[in-house]
Amino acid sequence: MSSNTGLEITGVNKVFRSGGRTVQALENISLSLSAGKVGVLLGPSGCGKSTLLRMVAGLEKPSEGDINLNGRAVSQPGRDRGMVFQDYTSFPWLSVRENVAYGLRINGDRSALNEGTVDHFIQAVGLEKFANAYPHQLSGGMRQRVAIARTLANYPELLLMDEPFGALDPETRWQMQDLLLNVVRKERNTVLIVTHDIEEALYLGDVVYFLSRHPGRLNETIHTDFKAGLPEGDREAFLKSEDYRRLELHIRRLMREEGRDAA
Ligand code: ADP
Ligand code: MG
Repeated sequence: MSSNTGLEITGVNKVFRSGGRTVQALENISLSLSAGKVGVLLGPSGCGKSTLLRMVAGLEKPSEGDINLNGRAVSQPGRDRGMVFQDYTSFPWLSVRENVAYGLRINGDRSALNEGTVDHFIQAVGLEKFANAYPHQLSGGMRQRVAIARTLANYPELLLMDEPFGALDPETRWQMQDLLLNVVRKERNTVLIVTHDIEEALYLGDVVYFLSRHPGRLNETIHTDFKAGLPEGDREAFLKSEDYRRLELHIRRLMREEGRDAA
């Protein structure tokens, strides 16, 4: 079923050609993510997660197939999509507030509007006390919060994240996952996140797209409806739940089969 709101990927293939070599990175990917939902691209290293995300961002073109966001074809990068990378992309010479305001400034928003928006998102990621600090004075998790605030301040229709918490220690990573869920639920963002971490995928995703590799195919789509019956933000209840354990084991098996195929 196709809908006009959300992300719609239809029959996407991606072949890389360099020198005489060709690599088929993705084969016949079709998926749809409804507006306001968190989708996760999960799969082993090299299965094409980043390639798919970059195509949604418009940084890369599909060899075949279509990508539509809210009824419009994606053909190049645009302000309707905001991307957060794993490495901290804040500017060291700008304060937290200036970093968050930066995207608004280059997009030419009125400054009166900016101040409210900037403060709103600094608050949303819990950095009020650090608004005038510089990136080198912040921890890795805090710098990642700056990147999220800066991206959200542009009100993207789709937030794209490629292994955003991959470089963080486990404790900070858990905090960042909760913070992200809080913010995107409140702002009703549509989000597409790449990870190879099963727990992260199931914890963050309303829907998890599991990709197999060589070439990357959509192997299974998992809806995490079971979380509706759990207390929100209670990781322990989540990890202990029967459904989580079953799904985690199931995906672990799929990953292991992938590993065998590759060996
Ligand atoms: P993942 O993010 O899941 O680890 P990638 O999307 O980075 O996977 O890569 C998928 C496949 O496409 C890999 O085999 C990779 O080597 C290949 N690939 C990615 N980008 C390029 C490129 N620019 N040129 C050639 N091959 C590429
Ligand atoms: Mg990648």
